[in-house]
Amino acid sequence: MQDALLNLVYLVASVLFIFGIKGLTHPRTAVRGNLISAVGMLLAVVITLLANKVVGWPVVIAGLVVGSAVGAALAVRIPMTAMPQLVGLFNGFGGGASVFVAWSALVEATSPATGATEVVLPSAQMTVATAASGLIGAVTFWGSMVAFAKLQEIKAFRKPLHFSGQQALNVALFIASIGACAWVVAQPQHGPWIYFLLVVVASVLGLLVTMPIGGADMPVAIALLNSLSGLAAAATGFVLNNNMLIIAGSLVGASGIVLTLIMCRAMNRSIAHVLFGKLGPTADTASDDEVYAGKVKSTSADEVAMLMDGVQHVMIVPGYGMAVSQAQHTVRDLCNALEARGTEVNFAIHPVAGRMPGHMNVLLAEVDIPYDKLKEMDVANPMFEQTDVTIVLGANDVVNPDARKNPNSPIAGMPILDVDKSKTVIVIKRSLSPGFAGIPNPLFAADNTLMFFGDGKKAVQDLLTAVKEL
Ligand code: NDP
Repeated sequence: MQDALLNLVYLVASVLFIFGIKGLTHPRTAVRGNLISAVGMLLAVVITLLANKVVGWPVVIAGLVVGSAVGAALAVRIPMTAMPQLVGLFNGFGGGASVFVAWSALVEATSPATGATEVVLPSAQMTVATAASGLIGAVTFWGSMVAFAKLQEIKAFRKPLHFSGQQALNVALFIASIGACAWVVAQPQHGPWIYFLLVVVASVLGLLVTMPIGGADMPVAIALLNSLSGLAAAATGFVLNNNMLIIAGSLVGASGIVLTLIMCRAMNRSIAHVLFGKLGPTADTASDDEVYAGKVKSTSADEVAMLMDGVQHVMIVPGYGMAVSQAQHTVRDLCNALEARGTEVNFAIHPVAGRMPGHMNVLLAEVDIPYDKLKEMDVANPMFEQTDVTIVLGANDVVNPDARKNPNSPIAGMPILDVDKSKTVIVIKRSLSPGFAGIPNPLFAADNTLMFFGDGKKAVQDLLTAVKEL
């Protein structure tokens, strides 16, 4: 096939990727954006297969069948709340694939061609790109596996790992992997073995850099790993001289880093702090007893319904618990019932509420809550002082006033929704258990807070029934 045709189709696929990403920036156009990108990817895969006849068709078809079956089964079975873990796995597989593809390209390039006795050494472009694929790909793979284990709340990985000399060890591993990269480039004839060494060192580095990252910083880490998986793919594109892989990898790398920076800003952290700082309960963190003992007041559906009778402004603050209990349909019905009684209802959305960026927007859009009712943090915060009743539904870390008031808190400085400023706060959750960051929340013990204990969906259903009986 002519190179010109191949590159033309790659160009069309790249344009479709860019329009696809643009579509993903708004819930209204997101589904179409996803579809446009998928068509671009299909074009890219088909044209690449037609242009490269090296691998036999049965192998390609077998790969497609197995890959599609695993992908489809995962997509159907994974609940929405586990989507970040799935994204983490996909990032990791992307990084792992880059490692293997670059490795096999290096083995091929450093073996004598059929019939020849001498090896023609690979170009500097190829060896530099191979080393970059190995380093970034291995860090991404192992980092993503740890991120997956943390998000899946696998016990051994739940707590951030800290030990003395950790930073020094990470710096030493980083220097060693750069040294191995230089070695791969300088002596490509021994390439595959040195490459193996490089992958081992980079794998340990990936594990050790991700294990200390605390719960509440995990979204940023996932976005960063996503960006790295793109860079690894772009580097592999240079190994294979494949323009499509270079463009697609760069798009993932660039959009991943933009998302990382946006999330860092939303959490008031720098990338360096996420990677090398500590987050999570420390020896200074107050115990549950110190925060809650004797101060928590619980309430019931009937009492909350009476509180909301005739009020003007209600704000609903959804969090991870709404997603777990799948309460969004009942929340919409409650919202309609309150509005029918003349109350204005809005939703305050924190950028990292739930377990993935945009998690709450997706759930509320799914049940047709109008977009103009979803208030971003900057818009919502000034509204709380005029809010009569705020219902916090399964949110915890994103409404923890310690972030604003306690400079020693592990989440100090993280922008939060200022729900504590509203006249009355109703918190719906099952117990006083902490959120993802693992720290107590003084909001639950505040004078103007009432705890409505129960499963999110059941509690909202009971509340809806009580409101209808008013
Ligand atoms: P949190 O994780 O802080 O708290 C969720 C609360 O939901 C828990 O305290 C839990 O309390 C409650 N809950 C769980 N199940 C139910 C249920 N069935 N019914 C009612 N309540 C329930 O959630 P937030 O949304 O406030 O904050 C998100 C946290 O996750 C932040 O720390 C963020 O950094 C982190 N994170 C965010 C990601 C993102 O991109 N959005 C990705 C990964 C992590 P109880 O057990 O008592 O019911």
